[in-house]
Amino acid sequence: MIIDCHQHLPSLEKTRTLEKSKEELLEELRRSRVDYAILIPDNTPKSEIGSLDEVLQLVKGNRQLYVMGTLDIQKRNYLEQTQKLDQLFQAGSIVAIKIFPGHDTIYPTDKRLLPAYELCIKHDLPIVIHTGASLKHPEQAKYNDPKFIIKIADKFPALKIVIAHYFYPRVECCYKLTKAYKNIYFDTSGLADEEVIANTGLAKIKKVLLLTTSERPNNIIFGTDYAMCSIRKHVELIESLEMERQTKDKIFSENAIKLFHLKL
Ligand SMILES: [Zn+2]
Repeated sequence: MIIDCHQHLPSLEKTRTLEKSKEELLEELRRSRVDYAILIPDNTPKSEIGSLDEVLQLVKGNRQLYVMGTLDIQKRNYLEQTQKLDQLFQAGSIVAIKIFPGHDTIYPTDKRLLPAYELCIKHDLPIVIHTGASLKHPEQAKYNDPKFIIKIADKFPALKIVIAHYFYPRVECCYKLTKAYKNIYFDTSGLADEEVIANTGLAKIKKVLLLTTSERPNNIIFGTDYAMCSIRKHVELIESLEMERQTKDKIFSENAIKLFHLKL
């Protein structure tokens, strides 16, 4: 079974309507043999990949698709947004909260995020943090540096934190900084992307994934960053790792089922 824990709808620029974006995504799930996916909406109302409200509406009644909550703490109504996420957690409509330091000029240690962290603890569901930076925008890494994330992990040992993209290209630095933390998880999204591999090095990516799995086998979940990245290439990356089938099954689905309490 494959659960892709990090997907976005194909861009409206191409598909014109969100309904078409959903159809294209479902078709891709079939082609790539992905059984379930967790969709990450944007945290702004007008977006090419859909807002939280739009994506929630779109997945209604679909048993393959789950949703993460998102919020923008730079908006004055961030507390109202947080309260809404509490209701969505209670209703079982979202399985995590995602934040975007780097895309947004905020740090994971920002006080305005504390209510969201407390919500995640209350519902025993993870906070997912965008990390890393492309060559085009190296300045983004200053906001999502794992040195801030471990401060949160220390302060809230009951908070489950998912580091998305392993802070590429500095994956080794991220591995070393977070090594001691049982409450820090990783998704594999973006790591099979051509540009990410060119800037990071495939050997380094494989090395940190192997080290992380051998030390914390329950803490890596499969993610792709579809529709920006290829699902197939990410499946191939995991399949290329020298590890037992059992461990791959954990990465592909079992860890995610536990972490997000998925009732499949
Ligand atoms: Zn993403």
